[in-house]
Amino acid sequence: MPDDRRPTTADTSRIDILALAAHRDDVEQTCGGTLLKMAEHGYRTGILDLTQGEMGTRGTAEDRAREAEEAARILKVSWRRALDIPDGRVENTWENRMKVVRVLRELRPRVLILPFWEGRHPDHYAASVLGYEAAFLSGLAKLAISDQPSAISKNPLGAQDDGEDVGATLPHRPFKIIYASLYRDVRPSFVVDITDQFEARFRSLMAYHSQFSDQQAGSGIFPAQAEIRARVESMARFYGVLGGVTYAEPFVQKEVGLVDDVMAIPVKSI
Ligand SMILES: [Zn+2]
Repeated sequence: MPDDRRPTTADTSRIDILALAAHRDDVEQTCGGTLLKMAEHGYRTGILDLTQGEMGTRGTAEDRAREAEEAARILKVSWRRALDIPDGRVENTWENRMKVVRVLRELRPRVLILPFWEGRHPDHYAASVLGYEAAFLSGLAKLAISDQPSAISKNPLGAQDDGEDVGATLPHRPFKIIYASLYRDVRPSFVVDITDQFEARFRSLMAYHSQFSDQQAGSGIFPAQAEIRARVESMARFYGVLGGVTYAEPFVQKEVGLVDDVMAIPVKSI
């Protein structure tokens, strides 16, 4: 196994897999089961939310910060932080790319999970392109960035968060970028079996009480909890069927798949 595929458990300043998303609760909906599964495999996982969720119909940014922390604990995430990019105005600017570069150089993930690059919500597809371009720029040796702290909210999960480490400015490019495609009706390149993680993943979503509990504010937009459960379960079932398992999460990769042993390729053909 190459060195950079070994879990970095001993090094608490680094993360193996980082999921980036526009809004708190996006990761819980699109790839939370996968993050939990990887944490259970011994990898250090992280979530970078670009915004603080202040435009949400229900609750405040502070409510969502607390809920995001609870969700991260359920998903056994080692590191979570929210940047200060305005909610509803995620733009692929140089300034925002540098905010993401700073995090990538600090955490040095091997795998970066981005939202799929097309979608209904402009923040989602903007986050995808912004994340990709930041990952590219982060690898440029001559791109120097200041070592200012990369976000205004503290990491509540105990990982190092001083933003002062000189090593944080060393170039780093993730080896692999995969796109969480659950929000988009697109055929996935592969699915991850989350049958054993499905219940915890659903609980992590329900940790966002301000968004999902049965209540009056915005009830025309937000379905009741039983309806949410049915929707989340049907989506996970659908992708599970594609992979020949009970529940799964879909991903797209731009590269082809490389196979070493055709005898070991999973998913039955006929
Ligand atoms: Zn979102």
